[in-house]
Amino acid sequence: MNISDRLTRIKPSATLAVNAKALELKARGVKVVSLAVGEPDFGTPAHICEAAKRAIDEGFTRYTPVPGIIELREAVAGYFGRCYGVEAPAEATIVTNGGKQALYNLFQALLNPGDEVLVPAPYWVSYPALVQLAEGVPVFVPSPAERGFKITPAELDAHRTPRTRVLLLNSPSNPTGACYTREEMDALMQWAVDHDIFVIADEIYDRLVYGDMQPVSVSGWWQRFPDRVAVVNGLAKTFAMTGWRVGYVLAHPDLVKAVAKIQGQSTSNICSIAQKAALAALTGPYDAVEEMRCAFVRRRDLAYDIISGWKDVVCPRPDGAFYLFADIHRHYNASMPDSAAVCTRLLEEAQVALVPGSAFGDDKCIRFSYAVADDVLEDALSRVAKVLFG
Ligand code: PLP
Repeated sequence: MNISDRLTRIKPSATLAVNAKALELKARGVKVVSLAVGEPDFGTPAHICEAAKRAIDEGFTRYTPVPGIIELREAVAGYFGRCYGVEAPAEATIVTNGGKQALYNLFQALLNPGDEVLVPAPYWVSYPALVQLAEGVPVFVPSPAERGFKITPAELDAHRTPRTRVLLLNSPSNPTGACYTREEMDALMQWAVDHDIFVIADEIYDRLVYGDMQPVSVSGWWQRFPDRVAVVNGLAKTFAMTGWRVGYVLAHPDLVKAVAKIQGQSTSNICSIAQKAALAALTGPYDAVEEMRCAFVRRRDLAYDIISGWKDVVCPRPDGAFYLFADIHRHYNASMPDSAAVCTRLLEEAQVALVPGSAFGDDKCIRFSYAVADDVLEDALSRVAKVLFG
């Protein structure tokens, strides 16, 4: 079968590969616990599901405008007002099939072949492929565990070339849970503005921050520099709606039109029923979001207390999202030389599924998701410790 060169260059999703292996073991009757998941373990709140049922009953089952129904676009704009005090018109928003399609479409709309995108590493698995699919070049900016997995303007500067077109930021981060403070984020944004580099900020975990950390959005920067910034967000993580496929973009209306053009020739509008559900989510009460956030704080503390006590393991305390990224490379040896080998061993001997750091651009680490019940988390971590440390 002849598959295009463009696709042959792209790696398949490593997280999906881990899940496939875990499912294979489960099918053989092995009791596998997965800390490899990238989604909340909660159900979608009832009032959101009710809105979807109503949409079906009322026959709201036809095509809608490509960028989304106007009420939903207004609700997306309203989200930035409600959460960040940013005024945005509905024309500055577009609803996409998840945050993933928002990113895909933005890169397609912004990049010419060979344009470089600064991608802080560790990075979310799909970023390099999304850039490459638009014929761009991902340029990784390393931010190791010892520096809290955060980059500075000086490090960005060291990787800037005349081809640098976009800086991709993700805070809170998947896989590290690292969050930039307002001051740190402002410094990165100022650097990008000063060097005329467009910023795409993936804020999909913006509400899931813990302790003293406050949600930090660059939407205020968008308001000041509307043609230099695009904010990506979605409902998957905040409202436990991964399967509904609702993401969105806040950007200059001209860029929104470009994104709508791509979407109009590829997928059209997102599911009409999911749009009604999303409307209820964004405009309704956020109590369920707060309840889930509190559960994540508890689990973060539980997992962090255990992992940070492991000998020769470096794990900065995550301030957001639902992942811990632990540097365990001091335990590598001849039979377990890298993060993939460690994860294979842990799956086979501890029956715990984890994603190797190599999938996120840092082979010293492995990622633990704590989007599971407290007792499952505790049990999985003690099994991991037994295999790693005897
Ligand atoms: N961005 C990050 C950092 C993510 O972790 C994910 C999902 O795991 C996405 C984007 C995509 O989310 P969605 O399910 O809305 O496409």
